[in-house]
Amino acid sequence: MEQATLRVELLAHTPNPLSLVYAAFRQCYHAGFAGDMWPKLLAGDLDRETQAAFVTETLSSGHASPVEHVSFTFALEGVSRALTHQLVRHRIASYSQQSQRYVDGSDFRYVLPPAIARIPEARDRFLRCLADIGAAYREVKELLETNGGSNAREDARFLLPQAAETRIVLTMNCRSLLNFFEHRCCMRAQWEIRALAWEMLGLCRAALPAIFAVAGPSCERLGFCPEGKRFTCGKYPLAEAALK
Ligand SMILES: Cc1cc2nc3c(=O)[nH]c(=O)nc-3n(C[C@H](O)[C@H](O)[C@H](O)COP(=O)(O)OP(=O)(O)OC[C@H]3O[C@@H](n4cnc5c(N)ncnc54)[C@H](O)[C@@H]3O)c2cc1C
Repeated sequence: MEQATLRVELLAHTPNPLSLVYAAFRQCYHAGFAGDMWPKLLAGDLDRETQAAFVTETLSSGHASPVEHVSFTFALEGVSRALTHQLVRHRIASYSQQSQRYVDGSDFRYVLPPAIARIPEARDRFLRCLADIGAAYREVKELLETNGGSNAREDARFLLPQAAETRIVLTMNCRSLLNFFEHRCCMRAQWEIRALAWEMLGLCRAALPAIFAVAGPSCERLGFCPEGKRFTCGKYPLAEAALK
């Protein structure tokens, strides 16, 4: 049984993302037709800096729907089922996840929380438990197979832990990504999904800085912490102090 490590690959994004968002924003404020503007944008008639400045400024006013026209697709591995259970709560997205009904879990890889890894006794106990689960999975699957179960993996998977690694492909448009980063780059988010969010944000920033350069936890945009006294990490003042 092997420990899994996080891997985030940007598979694709909508072609010409900056010009596409620019054209969508311009359509809202310009008497002309985006369909006529588009070939000129592709031909390079308007420099990218001017497009980026317009997009960044208009987006900062709160007008966000034009960024929905661009989507990013990521492939993730080395993430736990605990992570994907949180991830798929983000409804404005599309997901395709490795199935435990069809993919054998006999030698599942696992995600080890760093806090557990730091305490040798806790780490040993954790790994012993995973080894027991792996053995139970194999035994139960074999019993189901020898007793004519139609899909042994489908039922044996009930034994698998939240630490079990999974793989998933996800697509989100930029507006949904901005919302995802606001919630999941925050120190209050759980460590594994926070690490994932920062990796994804780095890839988005490289591809489309006009939208993602200033993305991240909501405090970075607001200038105060919306989490309240109980949950704040202290990096920014609380809303009531900042808005006094
Ligand atoms: C720190 C943290 C702790 C959390 N703890 C818990 C917890 O203990 N229990 C739990 O169940 N969840 C928990 N969540 C999950 C959280 O409640 C959201 O389900 C999750 O973050 C998805 O966010 P979202 O709804 O903004 O995203 P999406 O589903 O992608 O939605 C994006 C936006 O679309 C709008 N929207 C989408 N659907 C609707 C709708 N039906 N009605 C109105 N507006 C809609 C909202 O504006 C929403 O922000 C936690 C999340 C975080 C970040």
